[in-house]
Amino acid sequence: MTETAAPGTTHEPRVVVVTGANRGIGRSIAERFVAAGEKVATIYRSGDLPAGVLGAVADMRDSAAVDAAFAEIEAELGPVQVLVANAGITKDTLLMRMSDEDFAEVLDVNLTGTFRCVRRVTKGMVRARYGRIVLISSVVGLYGSPGQVNYAASKSALVGMARSVTRELGSRGITCNVVAPGYIDTAMTAALPEATQDKYKAAIPAGRFAQPEEVAAAVEFVASESASYISGAVIPVDGGLGMGH
Ligand code: NDP
Repeated sequence: MTETAAPGTTHEPRVVVVTGANRGIGRSIAERFVAAGEKVATIYRSGDLPAGVLGAVADMRDSAAVDAAFAEIEAELGPVQVLVANAGITKDTLLMRMSDEDFAEVLDVNLTGTFRCVRRVTKGMVRARYGRIVLISSVVGLYGSPGQVNYAASKSALVGMARSVTRELGSRGITCNVVAPGYIDTAMTAALPEATQDKYKAAIPAGRFAQPEEVAAAVEFVASESASYISGAVIPVDGGLGMGH
């Protein structure tokens, strides 16, 4: 890890935590911040991590474990300056078949898990009068999707969270934004039947799914100095699928 600003960056390396960086979009976001010369850590459950990423193990459903993981990271790297709350799950089924457990678990990881992380990092950010918080939502949170009542509810709630954080902490140099990906080539979309994938592609103006790197680029921007006046915003990375929502 470099101690001085890496080539191409205009600032000292920041401490960046990306949750769930062992695979998918989170992995790509973490790799991008490493390439930009930041000090990158992740809170994750299992699997291997990209080179240069410090890992602390915790399940997003466990407040004490999440707090302990942040403490572990901060002892190693210092206070968190950038948080990307990325860890998320789906448990899709039609509304009338959706159990309380299906609903509660998705909310616990996607919404309450994000809350646990945001709450934990903001104390240090307020003290430093600096922070960048990026919540990974989904086009589905704004557009709706059959079979995803639990997931869509968890993801749209992140918009209210980001806007409330912005109103509470916007005067302290802290921004909180939502990045709302459309369909991205990851394990989550690979699990969809081919016919469903084709139907979705036909509805996307760009005519294709995105690569995780395309989400990572938007996250890097919104966490950058250039985006210091952008807060409470929802940034779609969806090939036009959710336009107007
Ligand atoms: P993946 O399923 O590939 O990865 C999900 C990540 O979340 C994994 O690192 C996983 O860890 C972690 N995670 C899940 N549950 C927990 C938990 N209880 N505690 C800690 N970590 C957990 O998903 P994607 O990369 O596709 O998605 C990343 C984010 O982007 C999610 O929030 C998703 O909702 C959102 N998104 C994805 C889209 C897509 O098309 N793929 C579209 C729109 C939004 P583990 O490996 O241990 O399970």
